[in-house]
Amino acid sequence: MIVVMKTGSTAEQIEEVSTRLTEEGFKIHLSQGVEKTIMGAIGDRSRLEALDLEALPFVEKVVPILAPYKLVSREFHPANSIIRIGDQEIGGNKVHVMAGPCAVESREQILETAHAVREAGATFLRGGAFKPRTSPYSFQGLEEEGLRYLAEAREKTGLLVITEVIDARDVSLVADYADVLQIGARNMQNFILLKEAAKCGKPVLLKRGPSATLEEWMMAAEYIMDGGNYQVMFCERGIRTFESYTRNTLDLSMVPALHTLSHLPVIIDPSHGTGKWHLVPPMAKAALAAGADGLIVEVHPHPEKAVSDGKQSLTPEKFKVMMGDLARLTSVLDRELGEVSKRAE
Ligand code: PEP
Ligand code: MN
Repeated sequence: MIVVMKTGSTAEQIEEVSTRLTEEGFKIHLSQGVEKTIMGAIGDRSRLEALDLEALPFVEKVVPILAPYKLVSREFHPANSIIRIGDQEIGGNKVHVMAGPCAVESREQILETAHAVREAGATFLRGGAFKPRTSPYSFQGLEEEGLRYLAEAREKTGLLVITEVIDARDVSLVADYADVLQIGARNMQNFILLKEAAKCGKPVLLKRGPSATLEEWMMAAEYIMDGGNYQVMFCERGIRTFESYTRNTLDLSMVPALHTLSHLPVIIDPSHGTGKWHLVPPMAKAALAAGADGLIVEVHPHPEKAVSDGKQSLTPEKFKVMMGDLARLTSVLDRELGEVSKRAE
């Protein structure tokens, strides 16, 4: 249920509605827009009717949200949500590119990649320190040592750091080092992890599960918002279909679909979405054309030696060419590529 307050309603009036709802057992989430305040009230609908909030002069209307997701829905927050990370904003006019290796393999590898992707125009450095691997015999990540290298790379380049957390027990450790926590495809419905991430105080990039429907994905995001963390971004990374030429089928229709149903930003991962490096630049362009708020792309200085996902990783040179194309494309789309702030020069 959402309660839309009349334009210009005061803090006391908002408080009054909120108190009445809380007394009836509702959980309140506030969405403060430039003009209007919207209150998301989660609870027993029949009790709301008895409250007759529409009789109050400062309440514009009370509307049910029929979809199972509430806080994630556009009704709750009609304007696009802007996620503020360091001095960057995602969800506004600027398109951000997050780039780096699949896994943090060594200090040298991450520093070299960080400098290269920053030079080419990325604003975020990606790299997994905790790796969710299909095989228990594959490299599992450098863990905290990897997080330290990422933090050092941020120090040296001004790039913000996004890295994956795969276990609820590591959320606060990862949040100590990262600017954005990535919840991977395999963990999209790990509800304990989602609830823990809701409490971490850092923005979360929520990848789509390989077989998750749009609604299941939005419900996973709802867990994080319901837990009090409104800084959530969706990341489409391809789903499993009958096609085997590509590693996954990148479902770009999710960009406009999510923008219609939700206020949260949408990031596209064309690397996992295709599994082949030569498909990455064309799909990155298509993603921006579809309205994506950002991209997350795997880049490795020596893809042939990468411990994971070398086949889908761009070299720094190829990444640079792609970034040139994206810069031209964003101007046609009346958007801009994000930039690392001058302070970090
Ligand atoms: C990754 O980003 O390297 C990764 C493991 O992604 P996904 O969760 O989409 O498979
Ligand atoms: Mn990867």
